[in-house]
Amino acid sequence: TLYEDRLDLEALVRAIPNYPKPGILFRDITTLIEHPQGLRVTIERMAEAVREHSFTHVAGIEARGFIFGTGVAMALGLGFVPVRKKGKLPGQTIGQNYALEYGVDTIEIHDDVLDASHNVLLVDDLVATGGTAIAAVNLIRRTGATIDKASFVIDLPDIGGAEKLRDNGVDVHAVLT
Ligand code: AMP
Repeated sequence: TLYEDRLDLEALVRAIPNYPKPGILFRDITTLIEHPQGLRVTIERMAEAVREHSFTHVAGIEARGFIFGTGVAMALGLGFVPVRKKGKLPGQTIGQNYALEYGVDTIEIHDDVLDASHNVLLVDDLVATGGTAIAAVNLIRRTGATIDKASFVIDLPDIGGAEKLRDNGVDVHAVLT
């Protein structure tokens, strides 16, 4: 509808200063997904931007990537692969470490879900440094699957993550910049 075409999604994202730490301006998408059209229009815009590509799966990063990734997978008629924090998946997994500001973290996928016949779209809510998304790309590439597109609700371009993803051969789309 015309109303939905004009829906200002940026106005539905709430900015919360100094969360989770002093100096961070947290982009809170709960206000966007609580809006009756905000959730669906966001997902429709994410799916529209990549509709011409022939993906076999959508991979979403825990936890907010599950919300948007599930919607995009449904809109595109694809299955959903959860990329989870360490220790959460019940089957055999492969993991990828990545650096945090202090320390390291690990993400995992089941080791029997993807192979070289698959083409994966990566989804998360937000790209900042790109560290999380690049770890997911590296993890998925280790299965032999192709992953050269990523879709985010929000890109924070000043932090440079989208550019880093492009340097790693991943084309980035974001609904909001
Ligand atoms: P990064 O690995 O630095 O690109 O951070 C991406 C992950 O951290 C995403 O899953 C985001 O949900 C979260 N994140 C990082 N910075 C912010 C921010 N300013 N506001 C909200 N979420 C953020």
